[in-house]
Parts: sequence; C-alpha cells; structure tokens
Amino acid sequence: MNAAVMEAVADKVGYENNKLHKRLCRLVGQAIGDFNMIEDGDKVMVCLSGGKDSYALLDILMTLRERAPIKFDLIAVNLDQKQPNFPEHILPAYLEKLGIPFHIENQDTYSIVKRLIPEGKTTCSLCSRLRRGILYRVADELGCNKIALGHHRDDILETFFLNMFFGGKLKGMPAKLVSDDGKHMVIRPMAYVKEADTMRYAEVKGFPIIPCDLCGSQENLQRKQIKNMMREWDKKTPGRCENIFSALSTVVPSHLMDREMFGFTNLKTDGIANPLGDIAFDEEPCSTPATGIGTITLQRE
Ligand code: SF4
Repeated sequence: MNAAVMEAVADKVGYENNKLHKRLCRLVGQAIGDFNMIEDGDKVMVCLSGGKDSYALLDILMTLRERAPIKFDLIAVNLDQKQPNFPEHILPAYLEKLGIPFHIENQDTYSIVKRLIPEGKTTCSLCSRLRRGILYRVADELGCNKIALGHHRDDILETFFLNMFFGGKLKGMPAKLVSDDGKHMVIRPMAYVKEADTMRYAEVKGFPIIPCDLCGSQENLQRKQIKNMMREWDKKTPGRCENIFSALSTVVPSHLMDREMFGFTNLKTDGIANPLGDIAFDEEPCSTPATGIGTITLQRE
C-alpha cells in the first residue's frame, strides 16, 4: 500500500471513529434527557467493573459533563471482589491518568460465593446481589445520590426475552429506578446504545479490559441462547431488535392481558363514537417505525 492510500485509509478510520464517539454521546445524552437521569448538583457514582461497557459509560459521561449546561460530579467506583488473578493495579492506574476522582472498594465476595454455591452452579446471581448491597453502601459513604451502571440496549433486550421466555413476564431492565433499599436512584445512561458500538469503542479507545470470568463462572446458558437468537435475527432480519426495543417504550395496555394494568373488568361503553378508537373486527395495520419498512398487514391464521 502506498503512502497516499494509507493516509486515505487512516482518514476514513479517523472519520468513522469520530462518528462513533458522536453517536455514543448523542444516544447517552438522549437517554439522560428522556428519563431525566442527571440533574443539576447531582453526584453520580459510576460503577466501573473493568469491562468495555462501564469504561465506555465513564468516558462518555466525562465528555457530556464538559458540555452540559448543568453541573454534576462524577466519581468512579470499582469493587475489587478478590477474584484470583484480578489485576488490581489496572483500574487505579487508568483512573489516575484520567484525572477523575475514584474509589476502590475491597470486599472478598469471591470467597463468600465459592463457599455458598455448589461447584458447577452459576454464581452470578448471588455475586451480583452481594455486589449491589456493597455498592449502595459505598454510594452513601461517598455522598452520591445517583448510581450509574453500564448496561446497554442489548442487555435490556436480553433481560426482556429472559423474563418473557423463562419467567412468563413482560419485564425488561429499567433505564432508571429507585433501588430496592428505597434510597438510591439507579440510572442506565447507555440504555439506547448497541453493544456492537461499545465493543468497537473499547477497541478504538484501547480500554484496559479486565474479564469478568476470573472467578471461573460460565455464562448463564439461557442468556447465551438469547444472545445467539438476537445475533441470528441481526443477520437474517435486520431491524427486528430495533423494533422490539422501540416497542418497549410504546406499550398499549388496553391491547395486552394485564387486568391490573388496564381496567378490563370495569370497562363500560359510553355510546360516543371515537374515530381513533379500536377496530374490533377488521385487520389492523402494523407499522414498523424503526426500520421504515412501512406497513405490514397482519394475516389471519
Ligand atoms: S462472572 Fe464471576 S464475577 Fe462476574 S458476575 Fe458472575 S460470579 Fe460475579
């Protein structure tokens, strides 16, 4: 490859990387705005696991803080769970270089999990529960009123399918919630970001990734199945995951079956025609907003 070609390739790569950074900032900013995640005067504890998503979250929040018309503080927190071979120097070195306040919390949850969970069983749920309790306490000690987690769009979709396929519930992962101890606001500013983008961003930025399987736990089999299903969809029917994600924020309770959510039992006729009302007997058009494919007519079985 001659010099001119190499320069053109480098320009193209630089342009694409810049676009990716802009897209991440736009999507994170949009989620923060849509859900009013961060307000003036907030102190946000950013949970940093050493994985690609939490590195991306911290990086983008730091950019947005510089540009935001409001003032908020960020503090990065890592919980060192004392997994064997955890490279404990990596995060402090990275965070010192960034010049951001940080706290490393040392708690040997690894031994607790190993003691309580029989060999061969998945340890992630107990591990996350222990981690959650510790992080709430640390947030209190650091005076943080918000806790930011790095979950992204694909995590939310996977959780939605897991709950539906294996738990019989229409339930995803909220972008904003009050913690189960009632004291903290937990936010997921990466809720609109695709995992593929955080993967690429991690490569571009050269984040010093620390794997989450140092404890020897295998990825949950059901989650693996869901991931594979979504990967296949992305290949064979692009746009489907986008549509399903968009459906999560366009819920029509009157057309589902939850009697708590919609008052079916007390539903009354009022005799007033509504031109925008429901059509009981005709075929309904099904529009597909995310892909722009247009209108599909549902077929009767
Ligand atoms: S992989 Fe290990 S460290 Fe990560 S959540 Fe599961 S049990 Fe915890």
